[in-house]
Amino acid sequence: MSFPSSDHVRPTAILSALLAEQRGLMELLEQPLKVSHAGRDFWQGTLHGHPVVLGLCKIGKVAAATTATALIERFGVQRIVFTGVAGGLGAAVRVGDVVVATDFLQHDLDASPLFARYEVPLYGRTRFAGDPALTALLFSAASRMLAPQPAATGLNGQGAARQFAGARVHQGLIASGDRFVSGAGESRHLRQGLADAGHEALAVEMEGAAVAQVCLDYGVPFAAVRTISDRADDDAHVDFAQFVDEVASHYAHEIIENLLDLLSKK
Ligand code: SAH
Repeated sequence: MSFPSSDHVRPTAILSALLAEQRGLMELLEQPLKVSHAGRDFWQGTLHGHPVVLGLCKIGKVAAATTATALIERFGVQRIVFTGVAGGLGAAVRVGDVVVATDFLQHDLDASPLFARYEVPLYGRTRFAGDPALTALLFSAASRMLAPQPAATGLNGQGAARQFAGARVHQGLIASGDRFVSGAGESRHLRQGLADAGHEALAVEMEGAAVAQVCLDYGVPFAAVRTISDRADDDAHVDFAQFVDEVASHYAHEIIENLLDLLSKK
């Protein structure tokens, strides 16, 4: 790998699937420099003095894996943090809540009977954990955003969160797969299949487990936070774009600001 020289602080990668999820972060980026690589645009710059690379992976596990690999190989990032949206699967996980992943699983991976359902062949495991220290900081960053602050104004995470009184931060398993889960029956079926194998997922999305696998391969710390945009049911497609624009991008912006602040105090 061609990392920059050791006196250079390796950047933190902030990865999102959709442009709308990244927009709030783009507005904060200082000294932005666009680099096109591997069919994608990456933005290098600083956020509050931290060197960062903003990556847009597009949708799905393969696209996410390619982008994570590019961030590591080409940009020499020291950690990857994913911010985006997801469908709520856990009974208590509502639209406007935030889920921080403790670990990830590919819900559409099934090489049975050669391997147990959901097991990643030849890795000897089903779940890939997020980096514990980075995940703990991300949980604090998300909790700080949703904590009531009487003086909060404007369209920051607090402002956006006001639409969702009682919004909570959850921590647990995220299931990833190459399907937009948008039916109550499909969602029930997914939950049941996972439960039969002893897994209880809080949210479903389409990238996290792929990035986690790449980060395990390279030994790069990874953590992910997802704002719940839908309940993965028959209404999942309704107002999806509007939610991402009006709520999730502001959440992402504020959570990442909090995270960088916490990282600088470590
Ligand atoms: N309507 C969008 C498509 C979004 S696909 C468009 O036209 O661009 C869904 C994206 O949000 C993926 O990146 C996925 O990670 C996440 N996501 C949100 N809700 C989801 C759900 N119910 N099932 C799967 N992925 C979901």
